[in-house]
Formats: sequence, structure tokens, C-alpha cells
Amino acid sequence: MTRTRTFVALGSNLRPRSANLRAALERLHSIAHVTAVSSFHRTEAVPERGVLATDPDFLNAAAVLETDLDVRGLLNALLWIEAALGRDRAADAASPRPIDLDLLLFGDLVVDESDLTVPHPRMHRRRFVLEPLSEIAPAAWHPGLRKTVAELRTAVGSRRS
Ligand code: ADP
Ligand code: MG
Repeated sequence: MTRTRTFVALGSNLRPRSANLRAALERLHSIAHVTAVSSFHRTEAVPERGVLATDPDFLNAAAVLETDLDVRGLLNALLWIEAALGRDRAADAASPRPIDLDLLLFGDLVVDESDLTVPHPRMHRRRFVLEPLSEIAPAAWHPGLRKTVAELRTAVGSRRS
């Protein structure tokens, strides 16, 4: 069995946000070995797909997981946890959302399929992803951009993103 080191972003902008993040972390513990968790970062809602500037602030975090699942198995587990914690995708891109779980990196794997892109296609532009991630995994390697998380974090600077 192959064990893979993988990185997951967590976000919530529906109260109680920190309880939502903790509930998601508890579920992550039941599907994988969670070896590190960042602090919880408060981030203004960034207007983009499905998110309005008027939405409540987000609480964001990142986690390092060791898993025996394959990449699709892990994605399905993340989607299942989102659903279990009350995320309703039918209600649109669902913002505000109790929980959003994004698969950021899965070892050195690169996947580019209609329903699964790894590394996550927007992670390198999102300060709200890179800040918590660089706290726990600055040396993690982005196999597409061939840069570390710390380098990506520096590149994104202090612009709001
Ligand atoms: P976002 O997190 O960008 O706001 P959503 O959470 O609404 O978007 O969209 C999640 C959908 O994106 C899932 O149904 C999933 O199939 C797809 N997807 C593709 N790549 C990934 C990834 N790396 N992590 C999470 N979801 C992904
Ligand atoms: Mg998502």
C-alpha cells in the first residue's frame, strides 16, 4: 500500500465558523492521518466564482494528511465530508458555505481532468490558501510550477487574494 502526503485547504464563512472547521478536522482524522494543522486565519471574502464581496469573512486553515487512499478516493471523501457538514451544492456555488475542502497537493501527482485538477488550479494565487499552508508546510513542492509553498507565498505578496 502506498502512503501519500497530501495537503487540504479548509474554509468556512457560515457561523459558527471555527466549530465548522473543527468538525471538518475531526472527520479528516477519521479518513486519514492528520499530521499537522495550521492556525485558523480570518480572511475577507474575495469576490470570485459564487462569492460576493458582501458575504461574511472566511475562516481558513490548511492540514497535512498521510493517506492510503488514491487521489479520487480522497476527493470523494472530502466531498462526502462537505455534504455531511451541510454543504448544499444544489443551492448554487453555495456561498456562504459551512465548509469548503479543497485538495491542494497530492504527493507529486499531476491530474488534469474535468472534475479533478491537482495541484488545485487556483492555490498559487490565493493568499488565503498559501498563508495557512506555508505555516505548516513551507517546503512542500508544487510539481506543476516547480516551486515550494514558501516561494509561492512570497510571490503572492500582501495583495488581497
Ligand atoms: P471552489 O472550492 O473552487 O470554490 P467548489 O468547492 O464549489 O469550488 O467546487 C468543487 C468541485 O470542484 C468538486 O465538485 C470537484 O469535483 C471539483 N474539483 C476539481 N479539482 C478539485 C480539487 N483539487 N479539490 C477540490 N475539488 C476539486
Ligand atoms: Mg471546494
